[in-house]
Amino acid sequence: MSENPPIRDDAQEFFDEGQLVGVWTTQPLGRRLDYKGPEGGCWIGAFVEVPLGPRKVMGVVWGPGKGDWDYAKTRKVIRVLDVPPMRAELREFLEKAGAYTLTDMESMLRLGVRAPGLGDPPSMRKIYRKGEVEPDRMTEARGRILDALDEYGDLSFTLKELSETAGVTSSVVKGLVKLGAVSEQDTPRDLPFARLDPSLPGKELAPDQAEAAEQLKAGVRSGAYGTTLLRGVTGSGKTEVYLEAVAECLRKGRQALVLLPEIALTAEFLTRVLERFGAKPAEWHSGVTMTERRRTWKMVGQGGAQLVVGARSALFLPFRELGLIVVDEEHDTSYKQEDGVLYNARDMTVLRASICSAQVILASATPSLESWANAEAGKYTRIDLTSRYGDAVMPDMRAIDMRGVKLAGNRWISPVLKAEVEARVASGEQALLFINRRGYAPVTICRACGHQIGCDHCDARMVEHRFQKRLVCHQCGESKALHEICPSCEAEDSLAAVGPGVERLAEEAAELFPEARISTLSSDMYGSARALKAEIVGIAEGAADIIIGTQLVAKGHNFPLLTLVGVIDADLGLQGSDLRAAERTFQLMRQVAGRSGRSEKKGTALMQTYQPEHPVIRAILAGDENAFWTAEAGERRMAGVPPYGRLAGIILSSTDLQEVFDFGGELARLDGPLRQIDAQVFGPAPAPIARVRGRHRVRLLVKADKNAPLQRALKAWIKQVKVPTHLRLSIDIDPQSFY
Ligand code: ADP
Ligand code: ZN
Repeated sequence: MSENPPIRDDAQEFFDEGQLVGVWTTQPLGRRLDYKGPEGGCWIGAFVEVPLGPRKVMGVVWGPGKGDWDYAKTRKVIRVLDVPPMRAELREFLEKAGAYTLTDMESMLRLGVRAPGLGDPPSMRKIYRKGEVEPDRMTEARGRILDALDEYGDLSFTLKELSETAGVTSSVVKGLVKLGAVSEQDTPRDLPFARLDPSLPGKELAPDQAEAAEQLKAGVRSGAYGTTLLRGVTGSGKTEVYLEAVAECLRKGRQALVLLPEIALTAEFLTRVLERFGAKPAEWHSGVTMTERRRTWKMVGQGGAQLVVGARSALFLPFRELGLIVVDEEHDTSYKQEDGVLYNARDMTVLRASICSAQVILASATPSLESWANAEAGKYTRIDLTSRYGDAVMPDMRAIDMRGVKLAGNRWISPVLKAEVEARVASGEQALLFINRRGYAPVTICRACGHQIGCDHCDARMVEHRFQKRLVCHQCGESKALHEICPSCEAEDSLAAVGPGVERLAEEAAELFPEARISTLSSDMYGSARALKAEIVGIAEGAADIIIGTQLVAKGHNFPLLTLVGVIDADLGLQGSDLRAAERTFQLMRQVAGRSGRSEKKGTALMQTYQPEHPVIRAILAGDENAFWTAEAGERRMAGVPPYGRLAGIILSSTDLQEVFDFGGELARLDGPLRQIDAQVFGPAPAPIARVRGRHRVRLLVKADKNAPLQRALKAWIKQVKVPTHLRLSIDIDPQSFY
């Protein structure tokens, strides 16, 4: 082996032992590192273990090394991991997504390797599943294990996962194995998933559904990139239709990915895939065990998983041959990652598909204005499903004008709504009362001194959660026990809950409808996603008469017995300074209304409002979506804001208020690079939530033309200053929420 660096070749695919390779690691170093190729050589994209100081870290071979370092001192790749190399398509995607969101490569790479134990050698291991026999003697600990196994259905556990999930020692598990109540098997790690059979017959489609399915299938057959906005009222059969596109994709031997905004929705979806294709797909979200996650990651790369259903981070899985990505409920705000790498999964889906020549289907009853505008501009194909499947019809929508209604203090359900609910309960139908506020009451106030209880670390009020017997900050999650005395004036029995939350509404409903079975759905009231799923399945089967819920219920569940939706406070979303307040309210109200009357019986949606004349409320009641979108688009175009202009948010935070303001001021003054592209900078101003976890937050907002090279200008702008180490700066391209 020579001691001179070999000649660099950018198109090189395989590197011999000793040749220089450039490796991105998952460590925040800000640059690619050179190593010598390992024994036996390696492919470009290889997942490798490399030495870094005294440690060993994971990385990916990105190309030839730079050779700007003493070759003799350059260290060698320790080993190549036993997984297929990262494909060029995924490397390009990570690079482009990083450039778009102004995120460093190391952070992007971490998104791409989020699976435990990737470096482990293939081996056998023991897995645990539910056994055939019931134990003759039940103990509480044994019960917990069997419950855990039930909760996760067919999924397998390792011994550690099972005992930890159930909160028992592993000897209890072993005891059940001996009895045959739990089965223990030796399996190779990471088995392929059961084959899905796309040739099984689907449901017979209505004519407009069939036409939509044909169009989507033709897209998949083309083998080229394309995005389709599949728009249709809730219950029009969008899922049914896009499953046909999935079938076509599987027939072509390519893989498909379906993104859902909410884990609680996966149970229903899995069942539908099972019915359609005879087996369940792979899952990727925070509700599956690490063992299953790792299996999904590996099988996706080896072709042992044809279809993945998952949360937004599934977009970074190492698919071997991705042909179709469906983004269901594409307008949903949870597609925007608000922590760490700030990306919008909907937009990144389009990026990845364009790189790997895949089709994208964006499905929604109420598309985002961005997608709507892209369809108008001809960038996306648009398919409309206008009627509901079968006899289901759109609900009657009416406003209840609250201005004339006299309600006792702490009461929120009007007499009109009460009578309608009673009628449903009497006839064995279901009613849903919707309020978009978690907890018992949004404000706790002292009647003696007027003090409002706030969070000690944030600029936010504490929300009473009576169910958990605590006050909770919805900003930072801090909680404390309910107070007995006012922390300000020390008066006793003076604290009062003000305003409604979902728990308080449940209390009122229990008093008003003592005979009814009431189920309250709020994400924080369930110990696990599985428990919440079970509750939702129960409701669909008729286990409740009245459902009380937050926005969780607005997301695509199918409740066939539901015929009445009562919106307690339709005005809630219209307040506030958010650019998208009207859009969000419109979508949410339409979605909630869409819960009602999904099967044969006609539904009714009633909205309690103090502003029946508000354009958004009127557009909802009229069911006139195009009028709403056109008006909203007009206003945004005038203001030059998204989707007709571009925004970037810069959030600065520090424990020192003065410092963070001074730094923001300095940035704002140095706006030369921004002015070069005609962009404007606003601020620094206190962020709408001005303090989180003890850190003061200041925001600058940059506004630019739609086609301006915003990222380049932002980079040049930020580069002018040195960020003090204890001050945090994060850039949010296309910010969604404005905090
Ligand atoms: P969306 O996704 O638009 O809300 P779904 O695909 O969930 O609509 O369809 C709503 C309901 O109607 C589901 O229960 C679905 O199984 C049923 N459905 C839709 N289309 C058909 C069809 N062609 N044949 C039988 N059932 C259908
Ligand atoms: Zn807080």
